[in-house]
Amino acid sequence: MYIRLSREDGDKQESESIGNQRKILQRYIKENNLILIKEYIDDGVSGTTFNRPGFNELLQDIENKSINMVITKDLSRLGRDYIKTGEYIENYFPEKNIRYVAITDGIDTYIDSTNNDITPFKAIMNDMYAKDISKKIRSVYKEKQKNGENLCSIPAYGYKKHPNIKNKLVIDENVADIVRKIFDMYANEHGSVEIVNYLNNNKYLSPTGYRKTGIIQDKNKTNYDWNEVTICNMLKNEVYIGNTIQNKKTVVSYKVKKIRTVEKENQIRVNNTHEPIIDRDIFDKVNSILEKKGTNTKLKYDYLLRGFLYCYHCKRKLQIVLKNNSRRNAKSHPYITCSNYKSRGCYPLNINYEKFEKHILYVVRKIIPIYADKEIFYSVYEKYQNKTLDIREGFKRKLTQLDKVIYEINNNLGTMYMDKLKGVLLEEDYIRYSQKLIFERTNLTKQKEELQQKLAKTEEKINKENKTKELDELIENFLKSEKIHKMYLYRLINKIEIDKDKNVYIYFNFSKLNSINENLDDSIKIE
Ligand SMILES: [Zn+2]
Repeated sequence: MYIRLSREDGDKQESESIGNQRKILQRYIKENNLILIKEYIDDGVSGTTFNRPGFNELLQDIENKSINMVITKDLSRLGRDYIKTGEYIENYFPEKNIRYVAITDGIDTYIDSTNNDITPFKAIMNDMYAKDISKKIRSVYKEKQKNGENLCSIPAYGYKKHPNIKNKLVIDENVADIVRKIFDMYANEHGSVEIVNYLNNNKYLSPTGYRKTGIIQDKNKTNYDWNEVTICNMLKNEVYIGNTIQNKKTVVSYKVKKIRTVEKENQIRVNNTHEPIIDRDIFDKVNSILEKKGTNTKLKYDYLLRGFLYCYHCKRKLQIVLKNNSRRNAKSHPYITCSNYKSRGCYPLNINYEKFEKHILYVVRKIIPIYADKEIFYSVYEKYQNKTLDIREGFKRKLTQLDKVIYEINNNLGTMYMDKLKGVLLEEDYIRYSQKLIFERTNLTKQKEELQQKLAKTEEKINKENKTKELDELIENFLKSEKIHKMYLYRLINKIEIDKDKNVYIYFNFSKLNSINENLDDSIKIE
């Protein structure tokens, strides 16, 4: 018998008291004709750690082979750390031939029960494993960057790489006027749909088309159409006012290889790195219009299922595109289509995205509550939602970096001054170099102050204790309401494939759900 009680875990209820746990365990032992060897108790030890005297004693006895079975009232008595708990249940106990029973959770590793298929643990463990690997990949990536390999290789439309200076942009005059036109139109209240139509009607090739073919405008063009997403991204891109913002995108999850925008505070920004195409005034005007349209455009473009959809036939990621009705002012609808349809003769699919999303959510919502244990969601969420802490660490790291750079600049200034005194450096060169460095230092110091303020705000946020409420709301939202938090979808769904007959195959991250899905194929067919 293993009994654990901890106030930190919120075990205030009588049902968790040592006496009550003991009663339940003893009754179970009697009813099942088991022999009690020993009772192990941890009183006042949190379930997040496995370094507990009672539990250690239990492990010792397992090693000594003096017990062959472990019983707890429920899983959380064994531990609140779902990953480690899973390790014990799935690896350690079976390895040592220990039968484990969590009475109220119906887990008995001796009986081949469905409850033993504790897939959530597996999923979480797989997560951790994958996370580890993706960390390794990322460090290779960083190593490459350190070695000077230019990994971000495509300049924004309107710019090209400097012929001589590495990592420097110059204006691509061939298409800069198109960029100016786009900003002008938007600043003069022409919407993005209108801009898209203007560009497509005038047979301009999209940025991708231009990059691949070098052709700006082609009367006979059949593909490389512009779309609203491209326009929207361009209008927001500060590259056009001469700023460079790096670390803009990150892989959102090791599971879904989706690129996501990094929070502004974690981006690396350097102003005035190259010649601007757009005046600050126009850029600001455009962005204030964009902001007014605000959440609306965001919702429109960040499709919930983007990143999940794959073509059943060619296995490529499916595209969600806006189809413009030929009639003017007609509402445009997002459609799902295979990106290989035109180029490699795959199937067009042509599925109404909105309807499709509704249907998928219906299916997901129907399946999940049957298996979703609120507590598990809660715990998984907390593990991953330590983002704020990560952000704080990010700020701290960046502050250290900034300090280092500022220190180096000061050092360089000192050396340069000495060189000037020694006559190694010409007076005019000294002035030029030092001015540049001092300018940079001023910039960095400003950045540093901003960062310090943000850090203070983040600390405040961490200290606030309204976290639990937010979590509960999210779970409620997920299980009941209209909206589903995208984060949950990442946890739940691996991918969704669609075939030419509009059959849908949902691959869940939980194997238990996958087996159900197979029988659902017919019912989730959509027209
Ligand atoms: Zn395809």
